[in-house]
Formats: sequence, C-alpha cells, structure tokens
Amino acid sequence: MRRLSLVTLVLVLVLMAGCSNQARRPGKLRVVVTYSVLGDLVKNVAADCAEIVVLVGPDGDAHTFEPTPKDGIGLADADLVFENGIGFEPWLDKLHAASNSKARRVVVTQGLEILEGECNHNDKVGEKHEHEDDPHVWHEVQNSIHMVGIICDKLAEADPVNSEKYKAASTKYLKRLEALDLWVLAQVEILPKDRRKLVTSHDTFGYFANRYGFQVLGTLLSSFSTEASDPSPVTFAKLVDSIKAAKVQAIFAENTQNPKVMERLASEAGVKLAPPLFTDALGKPGSQGDTYENMIRSNVTTIVDALKQ
Ligand SMILES: [Zn+2]
Repeated sequence: MRRLSLVTLVLVLVLMAGCSNQARRPGKLRVVVTYSVLGDLVKNVAADCAEIVVLVGPDGDAHTFEPTPKDGIGLADADLVFENGIGFEPWLDKLHAASNSKARRVVVTQGLEILEGECNHNDKVGEKHEHEDDPHVWHEVQNSIHMVGIICDKLAEADPVNSEKYKAASTKYLKRLEALDLWVLAQVEILPKDRRKLVTSHDTFGYFANRYGFQVLGTLLSSFSTEASDPSPVTFAKLVDSIKAAKVQAIFAENTQNPKVMERLASEAGVKLAPPLFTDALGKPGSQGDTYENMIRSNVTTIVDALKQ
C-alpha cells in the first residue's frame, strides 16, 4: 500500500515537471503561424513535435485577411506565434489582444536587412508618396534560411524536451534550402540580364529581384500591400508604355490576386500574361506551389520560360 502511494507520488511529480516544462499543460507544443509560406518553414522544423495552425491558408492574402472568432480561439490556446512582421499582418495585434492570448510572439524577420521603397497611394485627392518597408522577404531563399534558424531556436527554447529533434530537422531542411538557392541562381542564368524584368500585380518581388538580378519594372498596384486601390487611368497608361518600351515578353498574375486587370494590362501592352506566380501564399495542396520549395521552383520556372522567348 505504502509502495503504491509512493509510485503515485512519483507519477504526480513527473507529471508536474512535464507541465512546467510545457508552460501551461502537458502534451504537444501549440504553435500558430500567420501565413502559409511561413507555416511550411515551421512544419519542416517542427516535424511531428508540435501542433501547428496556420491562419492565412493557401491562396489567401495576409494583407487583407479578416480573422474570424475561430482564429482568436486558436490563438488563445497557443504557446507560440510565428509572424512575419514588417506590416504584413496588420490585423494581428488586435487579434492577439482580443483573444487574451499568452502566446509568445516571434517575429521571424528580425535581423534581416529590410528593403524599403517609395509607394504611391491613389486616393480621391490624388497620389501620395510614402516610404514603406517591404515585407516580402521569403522570395529570397537566403532570407528563409535565416528565418528557419530563428524558428528552430524558438521552438527549442519553448519545448526543450524536443530541442534535439528540432535541431536535426532544421539541419536537414537547411541543406535543401541552400541547394534551392543555388538552383535559382543557376536557372536565372538562362535569361540574359536585359530580360530579367518583372511586372506583377503588387510589389512583392523586391527581395527576389535584389538577390537574383532582376528589375521590378512596374506593378499594377504601386504598393507593397494589396490594400491599395486599382491604378488610375494615367498610372495604367504609363505602365503600358513602360512595358512596351522595355520590350518585355510577358507579365505575371499572382495566385492571391484576381487576374482581371492584369489581363487587360497584358492585352493593352500587347504581351503575354504568364501563368500566376505564387506570391504571398502557397498554392492549394497538390498544386505546383504547395510547399515553399515547390513554390520557388514553380515561380522561377514560370519566370524563365515566359521571359526567355
Ligand atoms: Zn504582398
């Protein structure tokens, strides 16, 4: 009898120790990730050690996302939140506060060199020029490699029991990302330098252009965000002119944006509208952009194919 109660006591202590290691409850670490691209980076490091909920899913637009009460409940239950920062998730502060979440927030872009640009905002009064930071860091594979390092450190810190597993998974994944970066550098060499010009719906390829030697010739929405309104007729006409002057072969739609105005732009400029690029979100499962690596490979293949002709 006495032996049995000793066993019970030991069991209770073991459980309590487990609880304190895992913050509020035993069991898997609960992680919320704000958008699908980052969600895939986290999944590759966490493997099966954490429960992961992604707020803005495939083909979703984080700039204009409107959280539901269900998203708040997910956040209230979480231990960790991974977010992009740099203004990419303008709804997150409010959601985090409203859900009373005690989850630790981790901005994965900390320590990266952030690009900034001048954006034109069309409103009823006219065009305003503002400085904005560019949040679209993931299109440069080296930036994702940096983010994976932060993800691994923070997962290991929050869940020390599994820290070796996180480190092993991230080492394996980082090797693949380094190979992916080299693959992109080799692929773009197929294109002569004067053909490396991008026209897209919104200004999402700044980091990509920076690393892989492209010029962002113009964007339909003169903004890093998709919250901007459609271009004025004057802006639209200027873009048509610059596409013609630069003699680009094709312009690109995006998986997160309606292609309608891009179709009109392509037809007025007399160029091809290439298949959509995966920009601010992964594609749906089974699509060519259903993981981060697939998204980068698909984008680069689409870009090179469309511009080399
Ligand atoms: Zn964007």
